[in-house]
Amino acid sequence: MGDFEDEWLEHDEIQGAQAPAPRTYNNNSRVYRPSAGRGRGERGVRGRSNESNWRSRGNPAGGDYQNTRRDFPRREDGNKKSMYVSSQKIGRIIGKGGSKIRELESESQAKIKIGDSSGTETEVTLIGSDEAISKVEDLLNDLLQDYKPPPKENHNQSAGSGGSNEFFKTNESGVQVIDWDKLNNFHDQHQQERWENLPPIIKDFYKEDPEVAALTPAAIAHWRLANNDIQVKRTFDDKPGLKPIPNPVMTFEQAFKHYPEILDEIYKQGFTKPSPIQSQAWPILLRGEDLIGIAQTGTGKTLAFLLPALIHIEGQVIPREERDGPTVLIMAPTRELALQIDKEVSKYQYKGIKSVCLYGGGDRREQIKVVAKGVDIVIATPGRLNDLVMARHLNIINFSYIVLDEADRMLDMGFEPQIRKSLFDVRPDRQTVMTSATWPPGVRRLASSYMKDPIQVNVGSLDLAAVHTVTQKIMFVEEGDKEAVLLEFLNNMDPNDKVIIFCGKKATATHISTELAMKGIECQSLHGDRDQSDREEALADMVDGNVNILVATDVASRGIDIKDLTHVVNLDFPRHIEEYVHRVGRTGRAGKTGTALSFIARNDWAHARDLIKILEEANQDVPDELELMAQRFEAMKLRREKEGGGYGGRGGRGGRGRRDRY
Ligand code: AMP
Repeated sequence: MGDFEDEWLEHDEIQGAQAPAPRTYNNNSRVYRPSAGRGRGERGVRGRSNESNWRSRGNPAGGDYQNTRRDFPRREDGNKKSMYVSSQKIGRIIGKGGSKIRELESESQAKIKIGDSSGTETEVTLIGSDEAISKVEDLLNDLLQDYKPPPKENHNQSAGSGGSNEFFKTNESGVQVIDWDKLNNFHDQHQQERWENLPPIIKDFYKEDPEVAALTPAAIAHWRLANNDIQVKRTFDDKPGLKPIPNPVMTFEQAFKHYPEILDEIYKQGFTKPSPIQSQAWPILLRGEDLIGIAQTGTGKTLAFLLPALIHIEGQVIPREERDGPTVLIMAPTRELALQIDKEVSKYQYKGIKSVCLYGGGDRREQIKVVAKGVDIVIATPGRLNDLVMARHLNIINFSYIVLDEADRMLDMGFEPQIRKSLFDVRPDRQTVMTSATWPPGVRRLASSYMKDPIQVNVGSLDLAAVHTVTQKIMFVEEGDKEAVLLEFLNNMDPNDKVIIFCGKKATATHISTELAMKGIECQSLHGDRDQSDREEALADMVDGNVNILVATDVASRGIDIKDLTHVVNLDFPRHIEEYVHRVGRTGRAGKTGTALSFIARNDWAHARDLIKILEEANQDVPDELELMAQRFEAMKLRREKEGGGYGGRGGRGGRGRRDRY
């Protein structure tokens, strides 16, 4: 049903909704295959059907190509394939601020170049391996499919004369546009009918332990203070009729004594007591309430939402085997995090509950197969989830427990449209959990549109807790000296040291890792330009200790749990100070200490003041030079403001360059 929803489509795209589907040309001839009218069942062959007809640019057999087609602006490695797309639909491929094209590229590992337009058609060039091109073609074909109304099901008055034309109207200028009111009404009514036919969701599984019920307000206040100063409240208005915030549990038994198999699984892990977020989140979630956890990775937040999810799955009216589609959805911003959650989920066996991890870069067809066989939990990145939902490989009608993990990060990465699209059709009476390290307006907006009277649990004073166990050093370097200083640092490393080197751009990460390799220094690299399998291998090599140096972009700044990481080097200072906290927090974990070394170049001066605050808060030395830098930046800002120009500095969110970063 996501077809109905398209607040992100531009006006001209809407008008183009009935334009023909793209034609795909091969590179060296005029052979093309129109994809309009192909059934979804043909998806499996779509991307490969004319593989033998086209040749890569480097292939001598494709030499005639240059004579027949326009040259490309610059040379790229890999095969190329051109397709011609209705110019009115190009906006769909690009997406808001380029978000869609980024997502398509990241999911397929192919590059997409938007070429010249002939007016009605625009050339789109796909560059990459055969597999990547095939994948991106599949994705583009799905994306560019035109709206078709669903088959009629008992919506007598709303169906009107039938056919998609009923949802179009002619505006004052005589142009045919979508009649959104009519479409929204139709959609609401259709959804209502579907939801009404679903069994009610059972949400409340909580029986409060007498010891927990007997806790006094003073004892609870004391416990919360002693446990990372945990704060609990209703996020929005505390309306009359809502239940009071439940007391925290202090032991695993107080939460799960009615679920001995769950307790056994916890005991197998050897944990001694619930983490602060677990103590407070389990009663809330077991009672069926929506929860917002402001907590970082490393706080035990995954288990906080996972164990109640297992009980929720098993406790529904319709037996699992008879359910139409999975019950629990966990959305995570990056593949690494999704895989990490998947790993965590697989540690807990309960009643044969099955899960699948859906992420861009993983084998799409294999993922579809696993979903088709039947799973209870879906862990997914927003792009791949949206892809499979839109292509109707995943039935989301029975999702009744949803987790948006690291919501702030998902928004930072531009995933809001995919989140909104994927959740559009999920029944509104579901239980929803959201975790986030920060609480910016975007996350608040997401919470207010997707959650019902959520209870918010804040663990500690945000991220700073981890930073307290890390010695933070600052080194002032010229941009051009960074590499040499880094080499000196690496040469002085202890054999048991493990280090992540954070770079500001994917290209820098590639350059540094290549340079190190050429100097015989073994390392791995992790960034968005690497294949998924390479990224997984890089992480595994670090975790297993096969290599001790990881060169990474901010893809690795949050969530990644590498035990025994002793050092974090910020070769490039991050663009946002939150990212600094996240990077530094990769070390000094689980009771260990760590060291962070940040290279500060002249043009990092905009961050100096924020960095000073963090250093002071963590009782670290603040170099005089940093204070001077902050003062110089503030003076410059003041001067510019007086001159009326303002400071258009580098650290703004979004904008140019983001695509190169992760
Ligand atoms: P998370 O914050 O979910 O990424 O969890 C970080 C790590 O903490 C994972 O390796 C968990 O297995 C571990 N963990 C979760 N709950 C507990 C607990 N109650 N006690 C000790 N470790 C835990």
